[in-house]
Amino acid sequence: MEEDEKGFTLEEVIAEARRCLNCPKPLCRTGCPIENDIPAFNHAVSLGNFGEALSVINLRSNLPAICGRVCPHETQCEGHCVLAKAGKGIKIGKIERFIADFDAEANLNREKKIEKIGGKVAVIGSGPAGLTVAGDLARKGYDVVVYENESEPGGVLLYGIPEFRLPKDVVRRTTKKIAELGVQFVTNTMVGTDITIDEMFKNGFDAVFIGTGTALSKSLDIPGIETAGVLQANYLLRMVRLYQDGNVERNEVPINEGDNVIVIGAGNVAMDACRTAIRMKASKVTVAYRKTVEFMKAAKAEFDGAISDGVDFKWEHAPLEIVSENGKVTGLKCSSPDGEVVIPATKIIIAIGSKPAAGIVSTTQGIDVDEAGFVVTKEKPYGMTTLRGVFAGGDVVHKPATVVLAMREAKKVATGISQFLEAKKLLGE
Ligand SMILES: Cc1cc2nc3c(=O)[nH]c(=O)nc-3n(C[C@H](O)[C@H](O)[C@H](O)COP(=O)(O)OP(=O)(O)OC[C@H]3O[C@@H](n4cnc5c(N)ncnc54)[C@H](O)[C@@H]3O)c2cc1C
Ligand code: SF4
Repeated sequence: MEEDEKGFTLEEVIAEARRCLNCPKPLCRTGCPIENDIPAFNHAVSLGNFGEALSVINLRSNLPAICGRVCPHETQCEGHCVLAKAGKGIKIGKIERFIADFDAEANLNREKKIEKIGGKVAVIGSGPAGLTVAGDLARKGYDVVVYENESEPGGVLLYGIPEFRLPKDVVRRTTKKIAELGVQFVTNTMVGTDITIDEMFKNGFDAVFIGTGTALSKSLDIPGIETAGVLQANYLLRMVRLYQDGNVERNEVPINEGDNVIVIGAGNVAMDACRTAIRMKASKVTVAYRKTVEFMKAAKAEFDGAISDGVDFKWEHAPLEIVSENGKVTGLKCSSPDGEVVIPATKIIIAIGSKPAAGIVSTTQGIDVDEAGFVVTKEKPYGMTTLRGVFAGGDVVHKPATVVLAMREAKKVATGISQFLEAKKLLGE
C-alpha cells in the first residue's frame, strides 16, 4: 500500500512557508496542543534553512514526521491559522512533514552529546506517550529502558494506523532517532507477565512510566456477536500489518477479495478499517453509524478519504442483531429512520472504542484505576499514580484520543518524573 497523500516538493514547501505572515500573536501556535513554534519553523523553511527549522521543532516534539502526517490539522494549527477563514490556511502539517523527511535523508541535525545526570527510568509501552517520555528523559541525561510487548516499538503508530496514511519506515526512523539518544528498547516483553513493576524497582529503576494505551477493544451486546465473520477493527489492522511485513499469509487476513463488509462505528479506527477493507479488495464496504454525520468522531480528512475510496455511509443505523446462515454472517439488522432493515454482509467489523488491559495493575499493588479501568494520576508531581514512583500517561489515562494529546500529556509527565528523581536525589534516597 502506497502512502496516499503526496508530500511537498522543495519548491512547493518554500513557496508555502513564504505565504506565512509571521503573525505577532500566532493563532496557529495556540491551536497546536504542544505549542510548536510554527511561525519560527515556517520562517526558517522560507529561507531554505531546514536544519534550523528542525531544531525549532525538536524543542517541542520527538515525532514530527508522524504528527505532520496524522494530526487532525484542520481542527488544530491549520484550522486556527489567520488565513484559514479565507480558505487559504498555511499547510502546516505538510511543511512539518517535509522538514522531518528532509532530515531523514540529509541527516541535518546531530544531537549534542548528552551528559548523564544519574537516575534510571523504565518506560512501559512504545506508542507516542512512551516514545515522548523516553526521548524527553534521555535528552535530560537519565538512563531510559523501554519495555514493549510487540516485536517492534511504535505502538498504534505501527500496528494500528495503516501504511497508506503512515508508512512503517517513517515510524522506524523515528524510533531509531530516539534509540540514538541512548534509549534502550526491550521488545517481546509483556510487563505484568514477563516482568512486574516490583521487579523493575528491585532491578534498580528509580521510576516507572506506564504508557500502555488501550489494548482491549470494546464489543457490542447484540445477538449473534460471536458469529464467524464478526471481527474487531484493531485485529484486522494488525493482521494486515503482519501480512505486509511477510509475517502471515494472505489467507490469514480476515478480509477476503470480494467480501461485502460492514464497519460499525464512525471514528478514526472505523475509517482506517473501512479504507483498509477496500485495499484488501472487498467488493463493497458500508459504514453503519447509530447517529447522524454531525456526531461522527473521525477527522474530516479521514472521512473524505473514505468517501473518495467509495465507502458507503448509513447514518442513524443502530445495530440490533447479527444475521447469519449456517453459522456465517449474512447481514446486520439495524433500526433506522425507515424502521428495521437488514444490510447484507459477509464480514462485520466492530470499531466502537477500546479500554486499557488490566495486566499491569492486577500484578502491582497500589495503582488505582477508575471504574472503566483508566489509571488515576495526580497533578503533583504531574502524572504520578497512587503508587509512589510509578507514573502514567497517554491513552491509558486520558482515554483514547490522538497522537499529539498523548504526546502533550507525556511531556508533562516527563517533567513530573524528572522533578521526582531530583527530589529523590536531594533526599538521598
Ligand atoms: C487504528 C487507529 C488509528 C488512529 N488514527 C489516528 C490519527 O490519524 N491521528 C491521531 O492523532 N491519532 C490516531 N489514533 C489515536 C492514537 O494512535 C492514540 O491516541 C495514541 O497512539 C495513544 O498513544 P499511547 O502511547 O498512549 O498508546 P499506544 O499507541 O496504544 O501504545 C501503547 C503501547 O504499549 C504496549 N503495551 C501495552 N501493554 C503492555 C504491557 N503490559 N507490556 C509492554 N508493552 C505493553 C503496546 O503494545 C503499545 O505498543 C488512532 C488510533 C488507532 C487505534
Ligand atoms: S497563523 Fe498562519 S499566517 Fe499566522 S504565523 Fe501561524 S501559520 Fe503563519
